[in-house]
Amino acid sequence: MSVALGIPRLRTSAPAAGREGAGATAADLLTPLPADRPPVTAAPGLLDKHGRTATDLRVSLTDRCNLRCTYCMPPEGLDWTPASQLLSDDEVVRLITIAVERLGVDEVRFTGGEPLLRKGLERIVAATSALRTADGRSPETSLTTNALGLHRRAAALASAGLTRVNASLDTLQPERFAQITHRDRLHDVLAGLRAAADAGLGPVKVNAVLLRDTNDDEAPDLLEWALREGYQLRFIEQMPLDPHGAWDRSQMVDAAEVLASLASRFQLTPEPSSVRGSSPAELWHVRRPGAPADGEELGSVGVIASVTRPFCADCDRTRLTADGQVRECLFGSREHDLRALLRGGVTDEQLADAWRGAMWGKVAGHGSDDPAAVGFGQLPTRPMSAIGG
Ligand code: SAM
Ligand code: SF4
Repeated sequence: MSVALGIPRLRTSAPAAGREGAGATAADLLTPLPADRPPVTAAPGLLDKHGRTATDLRVSLTDRCNLRCTYCMPPEGLDWTPASQLLSDDEVVRLITIAVERLGVDEVRFTGGEPLLRKGLERIVAATSALRTADGRSPETSLTTNALGLHRRAAALASAGLTRVNASLDTLQPERFAQITHRDRLHDVLAGLRAAADAGLGPVKVNAVLLRDTNDDEAPDLLEWALREGYQLRFIEQMPLDPHGAWDRSQMVDAAEVLASLASRFQLTPEPSSVRGSSPAELWHVRRPGAPADGEELGSVGVIASVTRPFCADCDRTRLTADGQVRECLFGSREHDLRALLRGGVTDEQLADAWRGAMWGKVAGHGSDDPAAVGFGQLPTRPMSAIGG
């Protein structure tokens, strides 16, 4: 079954642009904190009505990309958000500052699109790492990237205060890489990963998506390689977040299949779930077949089963899109327009309140594996590249 998501592929404006254009003032857009939310003095953070508190901020710095991964973007690209609608570097830094200093965020991850395409990235990273959380620490500041060009920038990013890199790589075969991404750049990605590790941006985590009849036979090779290079490999189930509606649940390579494939070459032992915390990855200890259970470990591997075993109950994320919309969840369609407020001249505390109010309504779970939900408004109105993966 192929599911058309109805995601508008050609988007020329953010949801808020119409409201700004219609002459609404920032004051019109301010709404009081929900009456059922505890007062700010009792709960200053990004609490939601299901009892979770978001402390992990994903910031998308652009919706553009220099690859065209088939599960993420059509070969011709998308209709990129106009520059005037994107937050400026100063605006991004102001919102991150509010998140860290007033809302309890202690982890900031830059993403996109491809965040390395953002010219001001080093400056934004430096400003972020100079912030202090309530307990006086610098927020953990990381980057999710396709690693193109990272070999030239890893050292500067590390000096700016970046602590870690998550990179995406689905295959080690150059022809397959070109088939999946529509670009012949595997060697650049490998150079970027090495440079990140050498610059101390580790542990470098590598995210891989397996696609039916494309790279679904490559899980053991990818793991062998990652163990050898000292990278932490994580397989991600393909999610229904592509803009062209190509996701097909019956074709998805799920977590169970990934684990079965890895078990053909490795012995896997699950890490106790108590160690997982709010991390989306289920971790497995890796040994050679036949090794004793307490024998030498080669390393670990993660599986992010976003579709078949969603981790919504432990979700601690809040998202800011490149055009200044807060999203409570990667899935769903609700966005809250901080850009209009910010450009309308409201105070930091009013922005903080708007963010608190947005997160209070976060849904309990996304239900993307529920056939009844698919196509009935539960899925996002923007592709992953525009939300920030
Ligand atoms: N361009 C950067 C990159 O590729 O790492 C950052 C943005 S990308 C949207 C972030 C992550 O989302 C990547 O690891 C990518 O593999 C993953 N991703 C994109 N579309 C996906 C989909 N439909 N299902 C699962 N993961 C997806
Ligand atoms: Fe670009 Fe990342 Fe999407 Fe691939 S997954 S097209 S690298 S944004």
